[in-house]
Amino acid sequence: MSISLLPAVQAFLQRDHGLFIDGQARVAGSGRHLEVIDPASGEVISRVGEASQADIEAAVASSRQGFAQWSKAAPAVRGGVLLKLADLLERNREELAQIETLQSGKLIQISRNFEVDQAAHFLRYYAGWATKIGGETITPSLPSFNGEQYTAFTLREPIGVVVGIVPWNFSTMIAIWKLASALVTGCSVIIKPSEFTPLTILRIAELAVEAGLPAGALNVVTGAGGVGKALIEHPHTDKVSFTGSVPTGLAVGQTAMAANLTRATLELGGKNAAGFLPDVDVEKAVAGIIEAGFLHSGQICAAAERFYVHRSQIDAITQRLCERLGQLKIGSPLDESAEFGPVTNKQHQAKLGQLFAKARAENCTILHGGKLIDGPGCYVEPTVILANSARDSLLTEETFGPVATFLPYDSEEELIELMNDSPFGLSASLWTNDLGKAMRLIPQIQAGTLWVNMHTLLDPAVPFGGIKASGVGREFGGAFIEDYTELKSVMIRY
Ligand code: NDP
Repeated sequence: MSISLLPAVQAFLQRDHGLFIDGQARVAGSGRHLEVIDPASGEVISRVGEASQADIEAAVASSRQGFAQWSKAAPAVRGGVLLKLADLLERNREELAQIETLQSGKLIQISRNFEVDQAAHFLRYYAGWATKIGGETITPSLPSFNGEQYTAFTLREPIGVVVGIVPWNFSTMIAIWKLASALVTGCSVIIKPSEFTPLTILRIAELAVEAGLPAGALNVVTGAGGVGKALIEHPHTDKVSFTGSVPTGLAVGQTAMAANLTRATLELGGKNAAGFLPDVDVEKAVAGIIEAGFLHSGQICAAAERFYVHRSQIDAITQRLCERLGQLKIGSPLDESAEFGPVTNKQHQAKLGQLFAKARAENCTILHGGKLIDGPGCYVEPTVILANSARDSLLTEETFGPVATFLPYDSEEELIELMNDSPFGLSASLWTNDLGKAMRLIPQIQAGTLWVNMHTLLDPAVPFGGIKASGVGREFGGAFIEDYTELKSVMIRY
């Protein structure tokens, strides 16, 4: 049974949402609106303004002013605001979780536990960095010419106005990653949410004002088709942080470089591999595959999509996986007992339908699922596919959906070759009880993040980002600081 919506959520959905600029809502200058659709029902649940060029100018002007003020705030003040915002996320947990579920189709438990609770953890982690960002003192290396002396030090200075382009899969948490990285280093930030999921960030922007963030430090520009590009090309924005698909990420990188070398952090998807050594227990492997490939219907950039299992175990593991997937309760994401919900939009559902057709055309064996579910919502069957070769489309093209594609291997060398046989390298996982073997294989696997006996869990203390065509730059840990600050070297003669 579905939970009841809070009155605050109903009231929020009915608002005529504008953009959020300079600390307040702003009616979109275009006079046009985007409809927000609940992917579980196919119904329009709310609408937001579509930014005009004048709105973009206003957002950038506000962000420049916001930057001038916020970059001068004491580090402890910056950290304090983020801590207050974390408290406010928790205080408004159910409201934010319900809005997130309505716009994305994410199971309500995932919205509560990941989108809101994890976002609060990430905010607190970033807040801690506010008082710990600094440069270093350096003793210059060259000999003195004539008895004069030299000393040097470095400063970490905020980069300026950051454009954060947020995808639809984790629209609350990823927005928080981007705004926290920017704000804690003293940057101001303009969030451009996906047109499919623009609502939670509009509510979070209000909470940020309540937390004490000055006007202009955080602006939200909603829209579709050219808004992101216009923000990056604007001469008064300094950096873009983009999370999304590889083709769009390449376009964003090119736009940024052409716009006076605007700095770019790109966190893109790929085709992540999971390799199972022959010593793994079947039940544990199956639980791991469900965690790696089916959480939030596989709509996670770090999710595994290529599964390599030793030939001796492939039948047992895929058979048990199909049984487990057959038992999942598919239902409304607002039903707390549902275990599997819709994908986030019709376009994505249609794309998955095309990939299923490709799998059939290439004579792959569909062991489970492989169909869209009829109805008004964007439901897709959880799917297990056995490929014929490493070149099959389902082993090379990102599905970003609830689709696990398997291929057997015979030797460890072959496993490593298969896992690395991709132009992408965001994440990978290795599953074994032999930690010594895992330690020897870890250096051979090409991925920005490698998990052993786990997959997908992100921790704010552990840097995250892609190698090869999966991205540039890192989020989290101390690594993000390099991407949101410029390093200034100061040298003094005395
Ligand atoms: P995209 O990856 O295409 O990103 C869309 C966002 O990027 C929009 O906010 C858009 O803004 C902005 N954008 C597009 N072009 C540019 C540009 N040249 N410069 C600056 N900003 C730009 O996401 P989609 O929603 O279209 O999803 C497409 C596919 O990507 C999905 O089906 C899925 O497979 C995959 N995906 C992967 C994700 C991941 O994390 N790896 C996350 C989400 C989707 P505007 O509308 O203003 O142009």
